[in-house]
Amino acid sequence: MPTKEARAKMTPEQKAEISRKDKLYQKTPKGKMVRTISSWKGRGMICDDYESVYQRYLTSTNCECCGKEYNKNQMDKHMDHCHKTGKFRNILCRNCNQLRGHIDKDYKLIMKLITMC
Ligand SMILES: [Zn+2]
Repeated sequence: MPTKEARAKMTPEQKAEISRKDKLYQKTPKGKMVRTISSWKGRGMICDDYESVYQRYLTSTNCECCGKEYNKNQMDKHMDHCHKTGKFRNILCRNCNQLRGHIDKDYKLIMKLITMC
């Protein structure tokens, strides 16, 4: 990627060519991995080995908590991580990830709800 200064000196055609190449790169397996890991980092997720977690993400077929099978488009996979430390924990379905978030926020309230059943 050119620097901000170098990009300012480029013609519109040169900028369009770089944009076209960048879009093609993002469709490659490496480009998808880089973009996905960048998204995780942007959300504050921290782990020791992002590429291993990415491979686990790609090959995961079921929620690591309830066992529900994911959709084929993988959009229902959620990267469970501690919002205080950022540490990655598990790959979960939406329901389990939301429940985990509620437990983290107010454990006592969840325990009260359980005892009310
Ligand atoms: Zn689940």
